[in-house]
Amino acid sequence: MHDVLIIGAGPAGLSAARWCDELGLDTLVLEQAEAVGGQLVSVHNPINNYLGLHAENGPELCERFVEQTEGSEFDLWTNVEIESVDLKARRVTLKSGEQLQSIAIIIATGLRRRRLGIPGEMEFAGRGLIESGAHDRDQFAGKDVCVIGGGDAAAENALLLAEVCPTVTLVHRRRKLRARREFTEALPTNHCVTVFPESIVRRIIGGDWVEAVEIERAGAIKPFQMAVQGVLIRIGFEPNTDLFQGQIELDERSFAIVGSQQETSVANVFAIGDVANPLAPTIAGAVGSGATAAKVIGSRLGR
Ligand SMILES: Cc1cc2nc3c(=O)[nH]c(=O)nc-3n(C[C@H](O)[C@H](O)[C@H](O)COP(=O)(O)OP(=O)(O)OC[C@H]3O[C@@H](n4cnc5c(N)ncnc54)[C@H](O)[C@@H]3O)c2cc1C
Repeated sequence: MHDVLIIGAGPAGLSAARWCDELGLDTLVLEQAEAVGGQLVSVHNPINNYLGLHAENGPELCERFVEQTEGSEFDLWTNVEIESVDLKARRVTLKSGEQLQSIAIIIATGLRRRRLGIPGEMEFAGRGLIESGAHDRDQFAGKDVCVIGGGDAAAENALLLAEVCPTVTLVHRRRKLRARREFTEALPTNHCVTVFPESIVRRIIGGDWVEAVEIERAGAIKPFQMAVQGVLIRIGFEPNTDLFQGQIELDERSFAIVGSQQETSVANVFAIGDVANPLAPTIAGAVGSGATAAKVIGSRLGR
């Protein structure tokens, strides 16, 4: 029996764990990935909007977070697979069969990239699917690529790839891009980038490697195939709340609904960070909400 079980070791979960430790709460953090850090692991841009710290990228900030938890007494298990959670009973069952029980549960499971759900999307992982325009630039230099999405991430990645790729086709389903002006102004002036609005990629095609995408354009009689050797998908994020469906109140996009103390609709079950923050997901917000939940639990347990 633990005082607190924290699910997820991104900035929110690590902050909550640090605070729980400071308050003398017996705390166990469960992380499904091999390493902690959550989304920070894939942030390649400098982070200069987290007050008090500048980091060249997410992994560097993550390293500082980890340094600051060294010497703490909370337990952290990585590579953990959770089978099910009974929030009312505050019981977590692992795939291994082990059951864990606590007085409070903190959900800090963050977000995952949304998938298109089209043929080829999973099959070509590592064989032509681009994880990141910044990180994989060298591997895709000289190749024709397709970027799918219409927001900041899609536009920024299209521009990054256009620095090394002969052609970049940006395919998005709306009439107008949702990306910020800095990007929408830069795209038409870049001779390597072609934008296909009101278009949908129906499948990714290839053999050992991606060879083409099949695109359906508004007004066109039938879909057509475009030869590419790389595809990058950036169509937004969705919350990791599958484990909690039907147990706590979620909004229409499946984000956890919490009150000002980060408590969910189930007593002593809290949700912190991006998973409970559909409008303004930030590192600062994640770290702050972790502190709030830990302090509320601490005060209820007389610490
Ligand atoms: C490219 C990019 C750039 C960004 N730049 C900035 C920036 O400049 N400034 C800023 O403030 N924010 C930035 N962000 C956002 C910031 O990274 C997030 O707001 C922050 O990481 C949220 O932290 P979190 O702990 O709530 O969630 P996450 O970072 O998503 O962490 C959640 C953790 O929970 C784990 N998890 C999920 N499900 C389970 C499960 N079932 N069992 C166990 N563990 C689970 C995940 O593996 C993960 O480790 C950026 C994000 C991206 C992707």
